[in-house]
Amino acid sequence: MHDIEEVIVSTSRDNRWKVAVKKEWRTKKICPICGYPRTLEVHHIIPRGNLMTRYLLINGIPCCHECHIDFDDQESGDELVISYIGNKTFKLLNKIASGFYWDKSLEVIK
Ligand SMILES: [Zn+2]
Repeated sequence: MHDIEEVIVSTSRDNRWKVAVKKEWRTKKICPICGYPRTLEVHHIIPRGNLMTRYLLINGIPCCHECHIDFDDQESGDELVISYIGNKTFKLLNKIASGFYWDKSLEVIK
């Protein structure tokens, strides 16, 4: 019972994160990557499994399903991400993901 409740809480926090990222990018129905009107998903720059970065506002990029596949590409995904968020933010995210660095000024979705 306890486990189920935790999953529900965690899911809604994930949803709040997605909503916050879309709001930050000021987009609702237009994919900011390809410009087409589509249902938007949110790409985790550092994979969702990393709890250091999971709810950081800067860890997401809203995109349509097709663009999401491009971001998930093992070979070219990182470069594509960097072209949108910049090398500085990408490096910062990776530093935080390592677990040995934190930046108090970053927005964490509760
Ligand atoms: Zn797209």
